[in-house]
Amino acid sequence: MHNTPAMVIVGAGHVGGRAAQALREGGWGGPIMLVGAELHLPYERPPLSKALLTGERTAAQCALREPASYAADGITHFTSTVDAIDPATRQITLADGRRFAYHALLLATGGHLRWIDIPGSHLPGVLGLRTLDDAAALAPRLVEGTHIVVIGGGFIGLEVAASARARGCRVSVVEGAPRLLGRAVPESIGARVLALHRAQGVDVRLDSAPTAIVSRGDGLDVQLADGRVLAADTVVVGVGITPAIGLAQAAGLSTARGVLVNAELRTSAEGIYAAGDVAEFPSALSGETIRQETWHNAETQARTAARNMLGAHEAYTELPWFWSDQYDHQLQVAGEPALGATTVTRTLGTDAEMHFYLDAGGRLVGVSGFGPLSTVAKELKLARLLLERRAKPVPLQLADAGVKLKSLLAA
Ligand SMILES: Cc1cc2nc3c(=O)[nH]c(=O)nc-3n(C[C@H](O)[C@H](O)[C@H](O)COP(=O)(O)OP(=O)(O)OC[C@H]3O[C@@H](n4cnc5c(N)ncnc54)[C@H](O)[C@@H]3O)c2cc1C
Repeated sequence: MHNTPAMVIVGAGHVGGRAAQALREGGWGGPIMLVGAELHLPYERPPLSKALLTGERTAAQCALREPASYAADGITHFTSTVDAIDPATRQITLADGRRFAYHALLLATGGHLRWIDIPGSHLPGVLGLRTLDDAAALAPRLVEGTHIVVIGGGFIGLEVAASARARGCRVSVVEGAPRLLGRAVPESIGARVLALHRAQGVDVRLDSAPTAIVSRGDGLDVQLADGRVLAADTVVVGVGITPAIGLAQAAGLSTARGVLVNAELRTSAEGIYAAGDVAEFPSALSGETIRQETWHNAETQARTAARNMLGAHEAYTELPWFWSDQYDHQLQVAGEPALGATTVTRTLGTDAEMHFYLDAGGRLVGVSGFGPLSTVAKELKLARLLLERRAKPVPLQLADAGVKLKSLLAA
């Protein structure tokens, strides 16, 4: 047993790395233990399905911080799983049995890839994408002319499809639902995303489900429910993640879809906090618990959790925000569209659109948009500002692309 209680962070992903930094910046002078199951120091995941696959970024360029900054900040990085947490004695146990006392602990365990339960889904050549190692295994397989079959038409699957097209691969996407991106975006945006991928040469199959994957020596046959067979060189499974709540459950913490935390990101156990993909927290807009799997959530919750571990009692009040880059297009969702009572659509030329979601009192509670990056980036930034100010814009003005969003901000 190592006796000096440390600030312990379980999970050395985006949240883990940022929280360790914020603890030191916030004035913590004692030990900081950052324990992660992956071999790598914390890195950012968004490039894994984009620039890392297209070759525009290296693994080193995905690092969250300079590797030397951890030693400089006196942050000790352990490559290990944390196998147990004992909230009664405030101790953790590592995989090798060593135990350490904690002053406060942050659960930043993220999520595990969900998998498809069909014969052949574990054959070599069937890959998932969550980690740097997953991306390192996938990138060299995106060879010009090879056929990549992506199972799942969600954000990550579609980003992989776009990156594979950029590398000259033939790409098929197999999606079980009748539309892409499910309920995450309005139907018209889903339709635009579908049209974009098809225009880029992706064979998108909706209402389609794989039933088996069979090895054929030099490749894989993906059998579909309609009897068709896709001859693939590589299969990428992109059907989402399951939050890594097992450790918290074993420690007796309250969990639901994620680890339940209050507005200060504190779990049901004294001194234990949770943040990022694994945390289920009260929405600043509705008070209902929500979970977010986004860069912005990881970045901002890490900082709030760290401040609260240091004794602040700060509520997490950031609004959700997510982006996805596909080809030269960007999709964004901010706030909580599901809370909207009415939706106002603003069309930007022929190839971009935005949606504004207003609650019953006319207050903006969500925004979504899609189009070429050059068309939507600035508009979506202004829309987010309106949202953050909890504005009550006039619907007719929102709908009129001739009325500048900047002028609504000034109002
Ligand atoms: C391919 C990809 C592309 C993405 N693109 C976007 C994007 O374009 N826009 C966007 O907003 N978001 C995007 N995201 C989401 C964003 O990256 C995540 O929301 C963010 O990484 C979550 O950070 P986290 O620290 O909560 O979890 P993670 O980054 O998953 O880190 C959790 C870490 O905890 C470790 N761990 C788990 N259990 C234990 C244990 N018991 N002991 C020790 N270690 C443990 C895991 O090994 C992992 O390293 C993307 C994600 C992926 C995978």
